[in-house]
Order: sequence, then C-alpha cells, then structure tokens
Amino acid sequence: MNDELKIKFWGVRGSYPAPGAGTVKYGGNTSCVEINAGGHTIILDAGTGIIPLGHELAKRAIQEKRGLELLLLFSHLHHDHTQGFPFFTPAYFPNTRLHVFGPGGTPETLKQVLERNQSSETFPLSLRDMPAAKTIESVRESQVIVWDEEKVWVGESASSASPDAVVIRIHKSYAHPGGVYVYRITWRGKSVVYATDTEGYVGMDRKLVAFARNADVLIHDAQYNEEHYRGQLAGFPSTQGYGHSTVTMAAEVAAAAETGELILFHHDPAYTDDLVAAQEAAAQKLFPDSRAAHEGLEIKLRLDFRSLLKSVAKTKPDFGSLRDGSKI
Ligand SMILES: [Zn+2]
Ligand SMILES: [Zn+2]
Repeated sequence: MNDELKIKFWGVRGSYPAPGAGTVKYGGNTSCVEINAGGHTIILDAGTGIIPLGHELAKRAIQEKRGLELLLLFSHLHHDHTQGFPFFTPAYFPNTRLHVFGPGGTPETLKQVLERNQSSETFPLSLRDMPAAKTIESVRESQVIVWDEEKVWVGESASSASPDAVVIRIHKSYAHPGGVYVYRITWRGKSVVYATDTEGYVGMDRKLVAFARNADVLIHDAQYNEEHYRGQLAGFPSTQGYGHSTVTMAAEVAAAAETGELILFHHDPAYTDDLVAAQEAAAQKLFPDSRAAHEGLEIKLRLDFRSLLKSVAKTKPDFGSLRDGSKI
C-alpha cells in the first residue's frame, strides 16, 4: 500500500482539441484526468487526453505483465468528454477490466450513448469490438461508488467500506446545459473534487461549495476571462449561460469551500498559452493557492498523520463516534 494520492492531467482543454504552436505549454487535448489512490487507477472523462493515457497504461501493463483494472467516470456525455474513448487502447485488451460510470436517466443511458458514439455510420469499431471486460452503468446522485480492495460496487452508503477503500461521491449540478456530475474522490481522508463544465451563480454555487468543503484539491472549470464572459472581448460573443466559469467564479468556490489547491481546468480552445497564463495570474490574486492545469501536471497528496489516524480509528469498532465524524 503506497501512501500517496496522485493526480495527473492528460487533457485540460474544453470544447474541442486545440493543437498548434500557441498551446504547447498547457496542451491541446480535451478533458482527461488520472487519479491513483491505493494502487487503483481512476480516470475522469474521456476527452482526447485519454488517448496518450491509454498508451501509457498499456505500456505499464506490458512491463508489469498483468491485466489492467480501471474505473472511468464521465462527468457528462458532451463530445469533448467522450471523443477519446474509441481510441482508448486498454479497452482493446481482453484482459482489461473496465468499470464505467456516468450520468443518465436510466441505468442503460450511458451505455446507449457510448454505443451511438461508435455506431457503424460514425466509427469503424463498435463497443462490442472492444474486447475488455466492461461494465457500463448510469449512476444516481444519491449513490456512492466504492473501490474496496479487488471489488468495485455501487450503493447508497459507504458505511461498510474498509478504511483503504476509494469512495466516490456525486453531486448533480444543473449549472451546465443538460446537467453535469461533479465527483468527490476520497481515499484515506484525502479528497479531490472534479468540477468541470460548471458555471458560477451570482452569490456563488452554494451546493457546490458544500460538496467541495475542505477538499485537498479542487479542479474547477475556468474556461473564460471576465471580458470574454461578458461579451467585451473583440471577436467573441458573450458566453453567459454556456455552462462554464470565469476565474473569479472558480476562485470564489475555492475560497468559500476552504479547499486546498485550486486547479483551473477546461481552458477555452481559442486561448493561447499567454491567455491561460493570464488566467492563472488572475486566479492567484483571488485565491493564492491556484494553478492552471497543463498536460503532464502531477499533484501528489501525501497522507498526513491525521488522516492516517482517522483511517486506523475506522478499523476499531469502539471508536464508532470518530468513524461517523470522519470525512469520506
Ligand atoms: Zn466540456
Ligand atoms: Zn459540456
């Protein structure tokens, strides 16, 4: 058992991929983040960033001579979050086990959308041509996803999970057209909140603030600068109501939720490196512990004494009150 929760960014762009000389510093791939917790690999979204991640995972599997077990979470099913999936190499390995979760009106919705994305008219290979063992399931906001030792399960409560389990909670936000899932991934007392494709409200998104409270890392949509959002940037229409945030909105949530580091995410594809760097500088004035995500950025959260103690306390039934109060 290692003692770090690792986050790695593989795609940080919103809307559509943006390759070219102007985006080499932050990268042009669409949304994909890898989280490693307790030896488990969790992937957030399958924008084009999942393609290089897939190659890396395939390499790891070959080197370590073992099959991969992966958990993939979709925030929503807009194409910048799904377009890399047909090119995800590990899905073509029969010895890969892939657990896929995301939103949808029925348990089947997510599967149907992914099947449509790979219909014969739009892509040469169907979902069935990807021989990995896959479970694809729509989940509800009230449910928790738990990865406990070798088992992945979905339930209404994580109370039976062991102290080493990865626990994933869901907040359904309506601050994006069609809705979006915000995820909170917790392992041994450390938490990461992934809040992409979300637009701030006047007076803040209070539900998001409550959901993200005291997270160690908040990954938050910050697609636009203020001028762009208001329609004051030459050549760009106002983007109010598009379902994406400004730096100010992201920083307000981080400050109110008293999170650790704020990572600006889902950069506008029209923004060059200079513009994204300006977003980062603007965020740091409002919330000093801020950074703009770039491809290859790695964040390692070391378990501290307190969170380890909390985990130990959870294993002892006579510390029941501590268990109930612990944040998972
Ligand atoms: Zn998006
Ligand atoms: Zn979207």
